[in-house]
Amino acid sequence: MNLTLPSSKVGVIDSHAHVMREYFKESREEVIERAFDSNVRVLINPAVTVADFDELRGLAESYDNIFFALGQHPHDAKDWKDEYADRILEAGKHPKMVAVGECGLDFYYENSEKEIQMKVFRQQVRLAKALRKPVIVHCRDAWQEAFSILQEEKDDSLTGVFHCFTGGPEMIPTIEELDFYVSYSGIVTFKNALEIQASVSVVKMDRILAETDCPFLAPQAVRGKQNEPSFVWWTVAKLTELLDTDLDTMAATCLENTRRLFKLP
Ligand SMILES: [Zn+2]
Repeated sequence: MNLTLPSSKVGVIDSHAHVMREYFKESREEVIERAFDSNVRVLINPAVTVADFDELRGLAESYDNIFFALGQHPHDAKDWKDEYADRILEAGKHPKMVAVGECGLDFYYENSEKEIQMKVFRQQVRLAKALRKPVIVHCRDAWQEAFSILQEEKDDSLTGVFHCFTGGPEMIPTIEELDFYVSYSGIVTFKNALEIQASVSVVKMDRILAETDCPFLAPQAVRGKQNEPSFVWWTVAKLTELLDTDLDTMAATCLENTRRLFKLP
């Protein structure tokens, strides 16, 4: 097992990093510095609840290279409040707010009722369209339902990403028809993740993103540790191997794709 973090001077973006106090407490500044020191150029910090808006905005205002998304995770769909829609629209005026999310459907855990999840997801998709910003989709064991909602809502302004992708190659054509991106987390490095790995070579190169989804799901090489944004390099290294390319090319690809999707400066 090689524990030297792979890295390329080209740099990369962690397209989904929950760098919140709740998870990192007093180590947060160090974790962020370690990411930048390892050539992770930008972090996208997505909300799990709209209630976290102040912290998300505050952190993005403290660091040039941290951006945020605002939305309500499907686990917390039951706690959605009507006023959240206005807060998301208002937040959309902030220059560092790059997407609506994360939101979506999780029928594996089903922490909120399915009907409520679908209603709250559709509402956030509509907010993303109104803001002309991408939507960050969390989807677990709810592919048909998520695809239906996105197909029904599809218009020229709607795009986004299936983050922490846990599907297989058969989902990719539908995702590409929707004009969405696919983001791979540390899960793709797991030995038993054969279906997810098989999907990588099916996705078009200009649709692939990399993320950590930290603090959860550390990649195979550092399993058992708390996941942090610098570890996105393990995922980039795995994508490099699966696509039989080189780390510079893979990093540049993920970097460019993430910039394009989130319209980063
Ligand atoms: Zn997440």
